[in-house]
Amino acid sequence: MTTYFNYPPPALQEELRKIAEAIVAPGKGILAADESTATIGKRFTNIAVENTEENRRQYRQLLFSADKALGNNISGVILFHETLYQKADDGTPFVELLNSRGIIPGIKVDKGVVDLFGSEEEVTTQGLDDLDKRCAQYKKDGCHFAKWRCVLKIKKNTPSYQAILENANVLARYASICQANRIVPIVEPEILPDGDHDLDRAQKVTETVLAAVYKALSDHHVYLEGTLLKPNMVTAGQSCPTKYTPEQIAAATVTALNRTVPAAVSGITFLSGGQSEEEATINLNAINQFKGKKPWPLTFSYGRALQASVLRAWGGKKESIGAGQDELLKRAKANGEASLGKYVAGSVTGKAGDQGLFIKDHAY
Ligand code: 13P
Repeated sequence: MTTYFNYPPPALQEELRKIAEAIVAPGKGILAADESTATIGKRFTNIAVENTEENRRQYRQLLFSADKALGNNISGVILFHETLYQKADDGTPFVELLNSRGIIPGIKVDKGVVDLFGSEEEVTTQGLDDLDKRCAQYKKDGCHFAKWRCVLKIKKNTPSYQAILENANVLARYASICQANRIVPIVEPEILPDGDHDLDRAQKVTETVLAAVYKALSDHHVYLEGTLLKPNMVTAGQSCPTKYTPEQIAAATVTALNRTVPAAVSGITFLSGGQSEEEATINLNAINQFKGKKPWPLTFSYGRALQASVLRAWGGKKESIGAGQDELLKRAKANGEASLGKYVAGSVTGKAGDQGLFIKDHAY
């Protein structure tokens, strides 16, 4: 086995590290607005809005034209391909709306999951074939970071060795292709919350999956300082009869991360994974208050937990755009405070508040 390789040139290292560090600047996190057409359709169904390209544009315009104060707590937005090329009513490209708020545009580059043959309903994520070309184009079009989501499932026999290894490797290939194109990869190995497993099992699976991911990133010479990790928080399964406190969740989460994520990684941006808006904020706050080693910034990259109240308040109505934007600003501020360990539980209430956002076998 040879260990020969080249580090990326210093200028590329610096560019990647600066982007990653800007995203996890103190008090800031990511708005994940990269729902695929099918997924945003499910969100729209709940509020009786038709899933047309124009309604998707209207909704994303609401998000990106919110008061400039949004940039105080949101450092990056993850976009879906279609959204990247859309414009506001007055012709301003969405990318410009974001840039003018000091928000870095990012892009979802995976093409969804497919079954792993012979497995117990496990999956891998596709989209590598033309990724190099797409990344080069996305960089030209103003995106400086990307997301690729892999999915692992906790059941009696899973995640299997096959799924752990395959997903770790595909994440590493993705990350290396992004970096070659001056794009910061967000590495997302999401362990779904489906099941009745307890907190210990969730912690051990998270440790096992992350250890494999960082071995693969090392094998593929990924420059860790120019990456972000987007993991699940360590929580018990949705139908576990034991309920755990935010402090227990924080301890399990930080312990698992300390054991497996190199300190060189620029930051950790959690997904919300079906937690309610308030739960996702409280747990992030507890994680940041946890007394123990925390060598990376720990913040949010929430989809559902930043948008549930917005969607409710908006309801597809022109006259409610402002109400929707107010909800977004409130939740962004609450999570910004939580990323500093300064959120007071219950101090920010929203339309969806503590309503659970769990979706069985969640696709994105
Ligand atoms: P949730 O916060 O809704 O889990 O989604 C975040 C995300 O980007 C998943 O890939």
